[in-house]
Amino acid sequence: MTLEQAAPRVGGSVAGSGATPAPGSLGVMSVELGMPVSSRTGVRLAAPRGYCAGVDRAVITVEKALDLYGAPVYVRKQIVHNKHVVSDLESRGAVFVEELAEVPEGATVVFSAHGVSPAVHEEARARVLKTIDATCPLVTKVHHEAKRFAGDDYDILLIGHAGHEEVEGTSGEAPGHIQLVQGPADVPGIVVRDPSKVAWLSQTTLSVDETLETVEAIRQRFPELLDPPSDDICYATQNRQLAVKEISHDADLVIVVGSANSSNSVRLAEVALEAGARAAHRVDDASEIEDAWLEGVETVSVTSGASVPEALVEGVLSYLTERGYPDAEAVHSAEESLIFALPPELRRDLRAATKG
Ligand code: SF4
Repeated sequence: MTLEQAAPRVGGSVAGSGATPAPGSLGVMSVELGMPVSSRTGVRLAAPRGYCAGVDRAVITVEKALDLYGAPVYVRKQIVHNKHVVSDLESRGAVFVEELAEVPEGATVVFSAHGVSPAVHEEARARVLKTIDATCPLVTKVHHEAKRFAGDDYDILLIGHAGHEEVEGTSGEAPGHIQLVQGPADVPGIVVRDPSKVAWLSQTTLSVDETLETVEAIRQRFPELLDPPSDDICYATQNRQLAVKEISHDADLVIVVGSANSSNSVRLAEVALEAGARAAHRVDDASEIEDAWLEGVETVSVTSGASVPEALVEGVLSYLTERGYPDAEAVHSAEESLIFALPPELRRDLRAATKG
């Protein structure tokens, strides 16, 4: 599916106007208090949801590295943005660090799915670290696009969120050529060397609709704006946003399972509200659901971000069942079958270990 195919805006206004959202909440519905539990009539489950191919590969990379090399295996940044995944891997011997300076010389370090800049690779070489690069191939694709546009001497407008690891990694591929654009409000302030040589790229996990708005605003200023050769917002992000729209338009409540630092999970809750959900809450797991959210709620829709293990969704469904909701009905909007091979450096060591 292309960005353009996903473009039509879905109606519905953002809920919660005038209300102060609770932590992790994007909107607060006006509920009919006291509705009997017997009116809890439906639970709809988005499909696809949860793990994407890049997250699956990154998590398996750390697991296999622990099996092969033994603990500790260092991981620069969170391997994927999910606190449960990170704490599970920590319990098996992974050590998560913010910067390579924290990794002992000669140790093994895994780079996260969000990618790193060439400067980080260089630092690893200088410190004689054994590196395994679990950058998602779809992020690597954006890195290649950045290098190519910079090689052709374009000014590159990278649509994304300041401080996100993926944005830092992509920006590092073409320093001096890339500037960050966080939304339409940034467009008037863009300064380029040549308005006829401007290209755009984006973070892989943005809202499709919001990104298109930003691109449109950029194109109005720079009519010769060059598009990336293919969508940067990845298939998993697009599919999960389409799926959440399917379950949101008449939902009283949408629960999105995902961590607060997961860009694609946060976007899902926003998209749910834009698609017509009366309320949407992002939770790390069932323990964060508040019973008050269910007051007066007949239908609940559930989905999860691309870095979320299915067990956490099952926990949410059990929570709902215990409170009188029926079994969930899956709503399918796309099939996914993509699998990425493990990083070549890890495959090589796994082959050598098998032969040995
Ligand atoms: S969300 Fe997309 S870009 Fe990110 S790891 Fe998953 S497939 Fe790759």
